[in-house]
Amino acid sequence: MADNILQTLRVQIDDIDSQLVDLLAARSQLTKQVGEYKSQVGLPIYVPSREAELLEKRRQQAQEKEVSPNLVEDILRRVMRESYQTQSHQYLCANSEAGKVVVVGGKGALGGFFVSMFERSGYQVEVLDKDDWESAGNVLNNASLVLVSVPIRFTQTVISELSRLPPYCILADVTSVKSAPLASMLEVHQGPVVGLHPMFGPNIKSMAKQVVVVCEGRKAEDYKWLVDQIAIWGAAVYHTTAQQHDDAMAFIQVMRHFSSFVYGAHLAKENPDLDLLIALSSPIYRLELAMVGRLFAQDPVLYADIIFSNNKGFELLQRFSTRLQECLTLVENGDKQGFIDQFHHIADWLGDYANECLKDSEKLLQKANDDRTLNTGI
Ligand code: NAD
Repeated sequence: MADNILQTLRVQIDDIDSQLVDLLAARSQLTKQVGEYKSQVGLPIYVPSREAELLEKRRQQAQEKEVSPNLVEDILRRVMRESYQTQSHQYLCANSEAGKVVVVGGKGALGGFFVSMFERSGYQVEVLDKDDWESAGNVLNNASLVLVSVPIRFTQTVISELSRLPPYCILADVTSVKSAPLASMLEVHQGPVVGLHPMFGPNIKSMAKQVVVVCEGRKAEDYKWLVDQIAIWGAAVYHTTAQQHDDAMAFIQVMRHFSSFVYGAHLAKENPDLDLLIALSSPIYRLELAMVGRLFAQDPVLYADIIFSNNKGFELLQRFSTRLQECLTLVENGDKQGFIDQFHHIADWLGDYANECLKDSEKLLQKANDDRTLNTGI
């Protein structure tokens, strides 16, 4: 009897889930059409005001129907992420008169990504990779934009080879450090120059909501179309100086990646039973392991380049190491009150941002738990 009731309810739930899938398919068809229309008339993929308005309306509706507004917002955000990715096959061309775009290192991970983005925006694109320098004269001839996307350690040498570009040509790079490449580009080329740093890896499916840092070099009005193009692709463009960028990257990249590296080195030496740690883990520990572990699934040379090429990186890491020792002394001395005092001091420094972090991380932790498949023995 009880089994029958359960079975009937489950059939109804299955039916509703199936309707949800049909609705998602119908929505996806519409968002594809929106994407096509936007690329024809030149509207950006990501429009913050439209997204905010859509979420607000559905949150209100959820409230009226006594469904959790947060649940509805979560679902819609995930659905919208999917639609940014399926919408973005073709893009408006910000400068249809631009002529040839050359990506130096265009066979690489990030270079290949930009080749595809320019092609999908209607530009004529050519690649100059490491074995192509014999034909460099022809490839670079008449280029309107040369984008350097080679490993950090080769960037300066490659830039020094670009001294004979047409004067109207924009020389740009996507290197993860900015001061040295920008200075070299300004030295070697008298035309428009700009340093870019895409704050994402090449595996993303859409640039919507991603950040691209722009460091002004020379003749900003001449490379404006390139910055506009990046915005059309959906990215948030952030202007700063090369030095300010590099100083920030000492924290954002050097400290981040080096901490993960040390964490990994420590784990490997301590050699705990990883399966046991994962089995006993809390969501936050799984997230932590995921952040550390993902580093070691990637290219060690890229991360070595990032850590070793930031001119403020080493000193920052040294101070980090000193602070670790200072904090360790609190534990060594059994100074619990000292620890609590420090805790308050740091929380004060973070201010309201600490509470924002608590809220944001709560979502990530729940997601980390949702994605887990457990053998509960039932
Ligand atoms: P990659 O190794 O995948 O690609 C580099 C490409 O440059 C390769 O095709 C290589 O053959 C080519 N190359 C090497 N020497 C060359 C030369 N002398 N002339 C022409 N081509 C040459 O590296 P990547 O990950 O694409 O990184 C490229 C740049 O993008 C780096 O400066 C990096 O800092 C920056 N970047 C990378 C990421 C990322 O996540 N991969 C993110 C932001 C910025």
